[in-house]
Amino acid sequence: MYKRITHVGIAVRNAEHSSKVFSKLFGVGKEHSEEVGDQKVKATFFKIGEAGVELLEPTSADSTIAKFIEKRGEGVHHLSFEVDDIDREIARLKQEGFRMIDETPRVGADGYRIAFLHPKSTNGVLVEISQKL
Ligand code: ZN
Repeated sequence: MYKRITHVGIAVRNAEHSSKVFSKLFGVGKEHSEEVGDQKVKATFFKIGEAGVELLEPTSADSTIAKFIEKRGEGVHHLSFEVDDIDREIARLKQEGFRMIDETPRVGADGYRIAFLHPKSTNGVLVEISQKL
């Protein structure tokens, strides 16, 4: 079951600069930042009620975020939805014919297990499902 939008992921070149922009926009400071070694990004979180915004700055030129920015510029990268049971949800999505980028959940930022769906099977939108660890 889908519970809420966990966050909207936004690809940025410079998290420090973009944090200032979003702090000014939301009128609140960032919640925290952390490096996700696995994805070669620095993730910076803002809390907006039940949901959040995740700024993603590449920490390496071969990061998928670096490649995304090179191709499409900065901007909205993915939508993350919180689910009750990520393993069961992956099995259900596969059965429904969705293509998974991650067939097994991995550890993402902010204490979540995450899995991405292939945007070719979701109308061009990169969807992440997440479950709190
Ligand atoms: Zn995310």
